[in-house]
Amino acid sequence: MPWLEEAADSDKLRITNEVSDLHEAICTCILCAACFAACPEASRDRTYIGPHAVMEGYRFLQDPRDSASERRLEVLAGSEGAWGCNGAFACINACPWKVSPINYVAKIRTGATKVRLGMMKAEDCCEYKGKCGG
Ligand code: SF4
Repeated sequence: MPWLEEAADSDKLRITNEVSDLHEAICTCILCAACFAACPEASRDRTYIGPHAVMEGYRFLQDPRDSASERRLEVLAGSEGAWGCNGAFACINACPWKVSPINYVAKIRTGATKVRLGMMKAEDCCEYKGKCGG
């Protein structure tokens, strides 16, 4: 689901600079797919969505306007998503813009583990929820 599922009243939220900075960092990506091509795990396991898609998933997870955290985590927190990465770090070297998609893999794993252990709800994976004024 590579699109925003807007929550009710999300049009009233004011996006903070922190959220904007995160989106800007990820949107530096030029969609060249070099990270996917370089990733040994994406070559080996065709069910793994790859570093770029995991990173984009994280962007939507961290968007306070989004209401689909639970469904996103079903993919992102599985072996097709963040747990499919085996930490080869090839994406970092391959990326012409030094976007480092693997950084977001680790963040998704941390959030997903907390959700699985019942330490937080899926919608609370968004660090910015409740921090954007209306
Ligand atoms: S290599 Fe970098 S710029 Fe290219 S798709 Fe991957 S993250 Fe985006």
